[in-house]
Amino acid sequence: MKTRPVVGITGFHAHWTYPHGADLFTGVERVYTDGIANAGGMPVLLMSNPSTLDDALGMVDALVLTGGADVDPIHYGHGRALHTGDSDPERDHFEISLVRRALDLGIPTLAICRGHQLVNVALGGHLHQHVEGHEGNERPAAGFHSIEICAGTILRQVLARDHAEVNSLHHQAVAEPGESLVVTARSTDGYIEATEHAERPLLSVQWHPERQKDSPVWEELLGWLISETTRVAGPGARESVIGS
Ligand code: MN
Repeated sequence: MKTRPVVGITGFHAHWTYPHGADLFTGVERVYTDGIANAGGMPVLLMSNPSTLDDALGMVDALVLTGGADVDPIHYGHGRALHTGDSDPERDHFEISLVRRALDLGIPTLAICRGHQLVNVALGGHLHQHVEGHEGNERPAAGFHSIEICAGTILRQVLARDHAEVNSLHHQAVAEPGESLVVTARSTDGYIEATEHAERPLLSVQWHPERQKDSPVWEELLGWLISETTRVAGPGARESVIGS
């Protein structure tokens, strides 16, 4: 019997080379699956095969859109700039359809890094194809910066603070927010670091909270995501959240 809300996670594609040959994989970092499981959800990896889209939407109670490759600028009508990395056409197409449909259905969604940029593109916004000073690493001195969290937003309510120190592992950023997206945080140099949907349960962050082990933000965002599923999921999901 299902007791946990099912949280669909978008995966990346990778080649893995064995001594006897190579294969193509769909994968996801364990920080995502472990975090969702620890928050009371049932993490399920979604494939990018378009024939699975309807069933994926019918199965999940929530979504986490994960990090990964640059979204192809063709999806926002721009040419490919010099610094834009290789894109994954299958993943782009699947996830743009997935997030549009999920928003229509009111499926709670948390979007991270590439996922944050992809949501913006899916809603008609566009991206800065390269920004300076944000493509850091996970060394605190080099890769972190402050963000200001905007008053009157769900993000501010969920995180209950007006500033945060976040990692910065991106080289693109939201330039023009998509339809119905509200800017919820900016870096001190003015870039958009988070958005949320004005009417639907969607939080979207540019940084990687799942990699900040000394910060409660990952748990707080997942707590929001799981609690949102009780609005749409059955009694089993509700009991598992309240009882945990
Ligand atoms: Mn940043």
